[in-house]
Amino acid sequence: MIDALITALNGANVGLDMAKRAVSARDQRLIETAMDDMTDKLRLAYAAALEAAQDALKLAQEARALDQRVAALERETEQLKAKAQDRERYRLVQLGRGSFAYGLKEVEPQGEPLHYCCQACMDKGQKVVLQAGGGYGSLQCPACKAQVWSPEMATAAAEGMDRLTRSLRP
Ligand SMILES: [Zn+2]
Repeated sequence: MIDALITALNGANVGLDMAKRAVSARDQRLIETAMDDMTDKLRLAYAAALEAAQDALKLAQEARALDQRVAALERETEQLKAKAQDRERYRLVQLGRGSFAYGLKEVEPQGEPLHYCCQACMDKGQKVVLQAGGGYGSLQCPACKAQVWSPEMATAAAEGMDRLTRSLRP
């Protein structure tokens, strides 16, 4: 499009030269012809300039959209990196016979409390911490409602029942 603008401007220059020559020659007919020609060429140059400006604006808008897309992809990459790093902190553990969950590889004394994550959800890329409140002796995934049997929970539930039974005795 810039080429069309340059061609149109060159045409206008040629027209201007013709007009100058006509004025020098003091030929009224040549002056009028040159002025008409000049007007046409200026009209073409103006149209080419307008089109070039519109193209430049469109290119600037496309560049801006691409910048925004790049920034969004960078944010997404950072989020995926952080997620992958977090996932690396866990390994599959067996809580009871045939019941599995993801547990922390290392438990730091001042870090997060010991917890387990749902295996099915974690394998789909979603980290969901298992919670008490499943069936007897089970942990439950709040997202997919999977229940994971946990001997630890079963023991705690049994101890709770014992305490309750003892407190109800006369
Ligand atoms: Zn789940």
